[in-house]
Amino acid sequence: MSELSALTLEQAAAGLRAREFSSVELTQAVLDRIGSVEPDVRAYLTVTADEALTNARAADQRLRNGGASLLCGIPGGIKDLIATRGIQTTAGSRILEGFKPPYNAFVIEQLRRDGYVLAGKCNLDEFAMGSSTENSAYQVTHNPFALDCVPGGSSGGSAAAVAAEEAFFALGTDTGGSIRQPASLCGVVGLKPTYGRVSRWGVIAMASSLDQVGPLARTVRDAAIVLGCIAGRDELDSTSTTRPVPDYLSACERGVKGLRVGVPKEYFIDGMEPAVEQAVRAAIAELVRQGAVPVEISLPHTDYALPTYYVIVPCEVSANLARFDGIRYGVPQPGETMWEAYANTRGSGFGAEVKRRIMLGTYALSAGYHDAYYVQAQKVRTLIKRDFEEAFEQVDVIACPASPSTAFPIGAKTEDPVQMYLADIFTLAIPLAGLPARAYEAASEWSHSQCRERLQVGGAQ
Ligand code: GLN
Repeated sequence: MSELSALTLEQAAAGLRAREFSSVELTQAVLDRIGSVEPDVRAYLTVTADEALTNARAADQRLRNGGASLLCGIPGGIKDLIATRGIQTTAGSRILEGFKPPYNAFVIEQLRRDGYVLAGKCNLDEFAMGSSTENSAYQVTHNPFALDCVPGGSSGGSAAAVAAEEAFFALGTDTGGSIRQPASLCGVVGLKPTYGRVSRWGVIAMASSLDQVGPLARTVRDAAIVLGCIAGRDELDSTSTTRPVPDYLSACERGVKGLRVGVPKEYFIDGMEPAVEQAVRAAIAELVRQGAVPVEISLPHTDYALPTYYVIVPCEVSANLARFDGIRYGVPQPGETMWEAYANTRGSGFGAEVKRRIMLGTYALSAGYHDAYYVQAQKVRTLIKRDFEEAFEQVDVIACPASPSTAFPIGAKTEDPVQMYLADIFTLAIPLAGLPARAYEAASEWSHSQCRERLQVGGAQ
């Protein structure tokens, strides 16, 4: 039955409705697929086989009763940064090993309302800090298309699970590119919603002014189905918007005729791989063939996005990660004094990248440096946001690459943090401006033999 796992989410939903197979059969096919490819891919930190089959039996009942949502009975993977009640949620960190949250994140409750099936928890860079998933304290995930290469990060497990047909969709989070860059490197669709579109309740925080949850899927339509389910106001997250959730699936029917597509000159730079530039130019040409109008634009503060991001994010990290002290959260380590116990807990629980950001952020926020770094970065953030506001007076969407390179070999950038930071050079500015963006494959048919092309489109929704 393993070919069932190769369907798109929409095809699987149609098959369930037509009674061609049950959710239990669909789920078993995904679990079989996980069993055969996981030794190579290692996308999951936890596979929840029992939970999945229990969810599937309940979904079959709902499907028999009629009126079930398109996600009913569909197995999905969840980034292990998102709280799942009673199921280990590690954030990819040793400090949360064995942590079983007492509640579900809002997005999990939304998926449960629609009757999804939890296939498992996906690997990630520790606390979502990284671009290759190599910062996970547990394992390295391999790119399903090239096993010696990274899947991107930090939602690399989510992207690899979808690409390797180990889930019909996955949830990831994106602070500076963590949905879009791995989606791009694994040839799947990844969508970072507008800040506030999706509740962050129950999502372990990295940088709260930027973090958003979003879908990874095999088609744009599948991603639209998942976003429609998880979006919406949540009283427990005051940054979630009260704006009604549009029908994203029917919006997919609208063509691109007359759409003004901005092509920012700053996003086509020396040093980007020719294959990436070719793929993006080809995708823009396809949009134009379908009636879109290309417009060259400029986003003049683009060069400042990376340094701005890497001041603001460590500052927010240093505040957010203070709670992992072995008392409120975290695996406690003993010490002679309370301070020693804190130091031992945090010293042994956090990995190198997390410590680097906590130290940088604490320094940048300290008296005497706060104005020079944090306040300055916030001012530049406003300039970056204004670039986009001005651009959207001329255009409806912006097309640009999501990643300057295709998937790189495992180990290639682990020694040099700045090289790793540069992997997100094209994705960082958009969340600083609070905007949505997606990475998607230009090919419309999902097939392993097809070469995936990359394009990132941002626009006011
Ligand atoms: N790679 C970027 C970072 O390390 C983005 C991470 C993310 O979006 N969570 O901060």
